[in-house]
Amino acid sequence: MTALENIVNEIAAEMRLRTDRGEVASYIPELAGVHPSAFGLVVIDAEGKVAAAGDCDTPFSIQSISKIFTLTLALGKAGDRLWKRVGREPSGSAFNSIVQLEYERGVPRNPFINAGAIAVTDLILSGHQPREAIGEILRFVQFVADDSTIAIDEAVAASEQRTGFRNTALANYMKSFGVIDNPVHYTLGVYFHHCAIAMSCRQLAMAGRYLAHGGINPATGYSVIQAERARRINAVMLTCGHYDGSGEFAYRVGLPGKSGVGGGIYAVAPGKASIAVWSPGLDANGNSRLGRVALEILAKRTGWSIFGGDRPSA
Ligand code: GLN
Repeated sequence: MTALENIVNEIAAEMRLRTDRGEVASYIPELAGVHPSAFGLVVIDAEGKVAAAGDCDTPFSIQSISKIFTLTLALGKAGDRLWKRVGREPSGSAFNSIVQLEYERGVPRNPFINAGAIAVTDLILSGHQPREAIGEILRFVQFVADDSTIAIDEAVAASEQRTGFRNTALANYMKSFGVIDNPVHYTLGVYFHHCAIAMSCRQLAMAGRYLAHGGINPATGYSVIQAERARRINAVMLTCGHYDGSGEFAYRVGLPGKSGVGGGIYAVAPGKASIAVWSPGLDANGNSRLGRVALEILAKRTGWSIFGGDRPSA
């Protein structure tokens, strides 16, 4: 067993014993039934070696983690024009907050809060039918993960479509400022579907490799995006990826990361590893509670925090 496999196994064993798991998201009814004791962790290093433990092959709803992939696609389409529609500053408020939008005249703070992600989705949708845009996003995720079996959980998408009143409010509000170009229900349909992509930790860690390695898929050498763009997406993940918990995540873990209310977190150790963790119970900010704890231990034991400080302890 490699030193990294050892660390990953020990973290999974430790997380199994913890009882402070937080609450599974219930505002999307279809997510409420997920078992809180699930835990998965996968780390893929720069040589492509995979260290995996726990429920690492069980698909879960990636939810807001999908916003990394839509941001990548939208930047590819619009380049820096994207930043006219959406900012890149931490929000300091909840992921579905409405109040900030009024102060800022319908321009969302960043692409990872719901309003910002809906604006990004709208940009991807322009010039296409919703079905085509959903297909484009799914195919991109399948491509970067090198896995054509990745699919959308239609029951989750339908569940959110039925109950997504807040997201509907956010989208309508932005529409009133001209920030949304397409019919609101089209944009939201695409948004709910990409949030409902189901992936395992292993698939997610595979999919994000380009962010850990300067825009390049290290297995094929194929350039997915420019290095500068990967660096910037990582910067936005670090500052905004955990909503109002982003400061705490940087303080404790020290890696760019993006959470989702399905309990997943995708994290990057730049130049070193692509990491996915899943534990469905959430903290008050809607971020995976044990997912964060697991990443904190991982970063400490590997010495991977981008802020330095810890010596690796194998
Ligand atoms: N689909 C979810 C929503 O719009 C995504 C939120 C999240 O994962 N933080 O509410």
